[in-house]
Amino acid sequence: MALDASRPNIESTGHPQGLAGRITILTVVIVPFIATLYAIWLLWKVAVDWPDLVIFAVMYLIAGLGITIGYHRMLTHNGFQTYPWLRGAFLAAAGMAVESGPITWASTHLKHHALSDKEGDPHSPLEGLFHSHVGWIIDGWRTEPEKHGPWLLKDEQVGFFERTFVFWVALGLAIPFVVGGLWSMASGATFLSGALTGLLWGGLVRIFFTHHVTWSVNSICHTFGSRPFATKDLSRNNVIVGVLAMGEGWHNNHHAFPNSAEHGLEWWQFDLSAYVIRALEMVGLVWDVKRVTPEQLQRRLEN
Ligand SMILES: [Zn+2]
Ligand SMILES: [Zn+2]
Repeated sequence: MALDASRPNIESTGHPQGLAGRITILTVVIVPFIATLYAIWLLWKVAVDWPDLVIFAVMYLIAGLGITIGYHRMLTHNGFQTYPWLRGAFLAAAGMAVESGPITWASTHLKHHALSDKEGDPHSPLEGLFHSHVGWIIDGWRTEPEKHGPWLLKDEQVGFFERTFVFWVALGLAIPFVVGGLWSMASGATFLSGALTGLLWGGLVRIFFTHHVTWSVNSICHTFGSRPFATKDLSRNNVIVGVLAMGEGWHNNHHAFPNSAEHGLEWWQFDLSAYVIRALEMVGLVWDVKRVTPEQLQRRLEN
């Protein structure tokens, strides 16, 4: 093993720095968690209204696909090309997931691919399952875009979305608030009653789910599951994360073919992100989609 339990040389004072940064991270991690417990308690008291669940599902899809298609397959791995306006829409949707701005996200992930389960990997389970899930964020980690993804720093559109990250977070809370309020007004109730439960389910509970599903790719998918490809890391294919994370749980496939826009390589490997990319390709909105050829697949299985 390249790492031991003492976590050698892992920077504990990286981005975001200082007490304010740590308080922000704790708030972002803990508030959605408490809100989820509160939402469950509400659900127990009186049945939750189905508009809340619809708003939850739609916001989960928007933010989740923003991360999987926008930040991950498009920005980090250049898995396909698209128009600047659609690229911007994906980056905006990803911001609503409240994970980080695009430069921070992509360079952290490039570092993970460069040093997977070796010294310097931001979130290897060799340092503990909790560390790989959320501990690495709470501890503070070091992003190095100059080293891992210097091209991100030269991309004006990416810089814009990095600077305006807080705006997209706020928009991701405002949308379920307003939609929930209008929906409840349309059914004769007050604006505020629907707005608050819309904010709770479509905002905070949705952020909680998006966070833990994304983090599960780093923790569960480097710990539990199958390894059809003998990659030089601990990546695994995990069916539960595969479905919940819209295809990202086929993580051993992904480490074997990082630039492929499709992570599900078998027909039964559900990959919602890949289906959306394929649909966008069919209507001409994305092109140059990178896929694994049967020859590449065969060669990788033999090695
Ligand atoms: Zn990985
Ligand atoms: Zn990746």
